[in-house]
Amino acid sequence: MRLVFIGPPGAGKGTHAKILSAKYHIPHISTGDILRAKINDGSEIGKKAKSYVESGGLVPDSVVIQMVKERLQERDTQAGFLLDGFPRTLGQAEAFDQALCQVGIHLDAVIDFNASLKTILRRLTGRRMCPKCNANYHIANMPPKKSNICDECGSALVQRKDDHEETILKRLEVYKKDTEPLINYYRKQGQLKEVNADLEVKELDVHLLEILKSVPAR
Ligand code: AMP
Repeated sequence: MRLVFIGPPGAGKGTHAKILSAKYHIPHISTGDILRAKINDGSEIGKKAKSYVESGGLVPDSVVIQMVKERLQERDTQAGFLLDGFPRTLGQAEAFDQALCQVGIHLDAVIDFNASLKTILRRLTGRRMCPKCNANYHIANMPPKKSNICDECGSALVQRKDDHEETILKRLEVYKKDTEPLINYYRKQGQLKEVNADLEVKELDVHLLEILKSVPAR
């Protein structure tokens, strides 16, 4: 199964990507997670990406495309993958199509997570993450067992720098301008499936599984 998740920040792409990647045994590839890891490592890509990520802008296409191409060459992607947060611009989508075409691979579906502004703001301002293992929490909807401590690895949780309200608004603007055009791009290719991302996790999970069952096996 080869899937792409598109949607504004806070729509729940990461949460559902984790659930589905475990169910279908395919890697969850989040370009945001990869970039944050590279920033924490202080690698060359991390140094280039830091200011864009922290201010809510987009990292240049050339950097992200190369990073995804390298990731997709790893063995664990042979049975499929779930891309969360890539592509995010028309340039990335076109380069990705070309790369897939060169190796004779097709996407099975592109899922568009449609969420209202109210849901997005509620989810993002309450989101906390583990800087060590990337587990996500929400102070009201999905709190950790012990206040502010990761259930998985015991690290102290943090709020992402780009989850503060003014950066969230910038990220939404960037989403509208650069990423939303991809919805039509994939709709025209007949690959788009839209979901109501205002639904709670369990309800949306059921809906996603129904959609994926109807995707023809390749
Ligand atoms: P995310 O975790 O998906 O919300 O991504 C966090 C940040 O990483 C974004 O606001 C961008 O700065 C950067 N980023 C992630 N994916 C991409 C991408 N495909 N293209 C450009 N920048 C990206």
